[in-house]
Formats: sequence, C-alpha cells, structure tokens
Amino acid sequence: MLIVKKFGGTSVADKERIFNVAKRCIEDYNKGNEVVVVLSAMGKMTDVLLQQAKDINPNASKRELDMLLTTGEQTSVALMAMAMDSLGVPAVSLNAFQVAMNTTANYGNARLKRIDTDRIKHELSNRRIVIVTGFQGINKYDDYTTLGRGGSDTTAVALAAALRADACEIYTDVDGVYTADPRIVKDARKINEITYDEMLELASLGAGVLHNRSVEMAKKYGVQLVVRSSLNNSEGTIVKEDAKLERMFVSGVACDRNTARIAVTKLEDKPGVAFKLFNHLANHNINVDIILQSVGREGTKDISFTVDQDVAKEAVQIIENHRTGSLKCESVDVEENVAKVSVVGAGMMSNPGVAAKMFEALYNANVNIKQICTSEIRVTVLIQDSDVDKAMNAVHDAFELSE
Ligand code: ASP
Ligand code: MG
Repeated sequence: MLIVKKFGGTSVADKERIFNVAKRCIEDYNKGNEVVVVLSAMGKMTDVLLQQAKDINPNASKRELDMLLTTGEQTSVALMAMAMDSLGVPAVSLNAFQVAMNTTANYGNARLKRIDTDRIKHELSNRRIVIVTGFQGINKYDDYTTLGRGGSDTTAVALAAALRADACEIYTDVDGVYTADPRIVKDARKINEITYDEMLELASLGAGVLHNRSVEMAKKYGVQLVVRSSLNNSEGTIVKEDAKLERMFVSGVACDRNTARIAVTKLEDKPGVAFKLFNHLANHNINVDIILQSVGREGTKDISFTVDQDVAKEAVQIIENHRTGSLKCESVDVEENVAKVSVVGAGMMSNPGVAAKMFEALYNANVNIKQICTSEIRVTVLIQDSDVDKAMNAVHDAFELSE
C-alpha cells in the first residue's frame, strides 16, 4: 500500500512529538508499505514567523513573506528525517522545489497546478520514507509560494491524488470531526463517517479541522480521507463520497463568529443596482455571504448582506465611495455583533422539515433570527453573537446529535 500521512503543527511541536510521529510512520513502513509524510511547521511557528516579519516591516511583500514562511515546513521535514534516521530507518526530506510542486503565480494563496511525482517515486522505490513540506509550492518565476493558512492538508490530498495513494490520513490534535465544537457543546460526538459535501460545508463554516480546499480536491479526485488524532489510536472520521446514513439527516452544527452584517437602505429600485453594489465589492475581493433584499416600496429597496468581520469596514468604505454616484442610498449601517449558526447534513435533501425544526429549537431557546440562508445540505441563520452558545446547544439537542 502507498500511504500519505499528514501531521499538523501540534503533532510535531517538540522533540517528543516528532519521535512519536516518526514511530507511527515507521510502523506502517515496517509492514511493507510505501510511506509519504506531509508535515506542517512545528507548533505555532508560522505565526511566529509572521510576527517577526511584521516587526521588521509591516508592509513586507507577499513574495518575501512566502520565502520566510516556507522555512517553517522545511525545518520540520528535515528534523523528521533526522529522527527517523536515528531510529535506523532510511528517510529523505523534500521541499516544494525538490519535488516540483507547481502552483499558480500568486503568493500567499497559490493553488497547486501540477505535481511531479518522479522524485518521490524514485525515493520510494529505494525503500525510503519520503517526507514532504506541506503548505508550499513553486511558481513560474521559480519562487516559493504558499497555499494559504492551513494549506498542508491540501498538499497531502494533492499528493495522494497524484501518487494514486491507497490511503490519505490527516493527523491532528483532535479525535476527528465532531457534531459541534466540543468547547461550545459539551456532549458533541465524534462523527464516524461524513460526505465530502458535508465536510466542505463544515470546513467553510470554520469547523477548523480541514482546509476547505483539501476537501474540494479530495472530492474532485475521489481521495478518501481519514481525519484522526496523532496523540492516540482512536479511529477518527472518514470523509468520502457516500457516508452511511448512521442516524439522522443532520450531521453537524457549526458556527462562525467572524461575521458582520451590512445594511444599505433606500437604494433605487431599478435594474442594475444589486449588480453595481456587489460588483464594487467583488472588485475589491470582498466575499459576500447571506444576501437579503427587501420588497421594493416607493421606488426604493433595502439590501443587507454579511461579510467576514475583518473586511466589514473596508466594505462600508467602498459603498460610501459610490454613494454620490452609482449607489444612491439613505444609509449604510454595519452590525458587528452577529454570528452564523448552521446545520449541515446530506440527508436534508430528501427530508423536509429540517429548517422548521431548527427554527423551533431557536424559538424555544428564545434566540432571535435576523437572516436566513439555505443550500441543498445546509440551513444557516444569522443571530446575535451573544446567543451562539445557547443556539448551538439548542439546535444540537433538537437534532439529537449527542450520544
Ligand atoms: N504552517 C501553515 C499554517 O500554520 C500550514 C499548515 O499548518 O497547514 O497555516
Ligand atoms: Mg490545519
């Protein structure tokens, strides 16, 4: 079997943990498997490096930032190879250049385009464990790029796809994917199996376990994933195309506090207004989420929508800049104390009543809903952020997601 194993920063945070990971990999190797290991930077190294850069130059270029950040992963792969070597197992570390992990040109948030597998295959055929830097790539200028925070998951999935691996295991510091954040919902339960689509919704909603692009890629190439803990031997969560419908049609509840709502009132009620509004925002790369437009009255209408909280001020400024021109309106208001709570489940498609049940639970918990948005497998409500814990618990209970 060819196995790709990815370990996150906490799993390689110090000497003891590096040896723990080395031993887990060697176990597979000793069974005769081919083993490719993808690592993140040790512990909080990426944050430390970013802080160092900021101290020197708060306006450092993205190119130099990537040059700096890629050293984090380079450190962990080299140390891991040394650890394995000291345990008597042949291992070799490779960075993005040595593999040739080609990405798009943009620094800081590049996308993988093509991976050369020759070098890795050659090392595997010499019975070495191959340890590859996560998170990094190279672009057409022969510069280092990075894939965005949390991007090592995507490196692992891409390698598994390119190498046609038999297994792709993502090791982290939790036991798998949970029905809700256990810090908020105490009786949250580990999910045994989840579909790509559900995982994608959860990852995009900030569940934090997997980089959402890694899930996108796993779905595209049919790479089955296992998310499990590097600290114990529990079974983890399997992410695949069709999951067993274990129990309910809802598999999890997620929240996202990094949300703000912007309301633009009394816009002209005529064609092209929504286009102009969202086009101005898109031109500044601002992602818009839940959109609500009121019924037109006396030639005007209101449009409100949510954005990530960190770009709310910028979004308001962009709209303000066009108020005297293409976007005549009465006011632009921003509300920051809001959060999104969502239920996700592939079974929703064929089971009506999920939204009603969620709203009932929120009503019973006395939580007011400000805005609603749905997809085929998700219902999201916008609420006051101080209500999040209460809402999450109420919804989790209503769908009987606990053990
Ligand atoms: N080290 C990078 C980060 O902290 C990539 C990763 O861990 O996946 O974002
Ligand atoms: Mg991660």
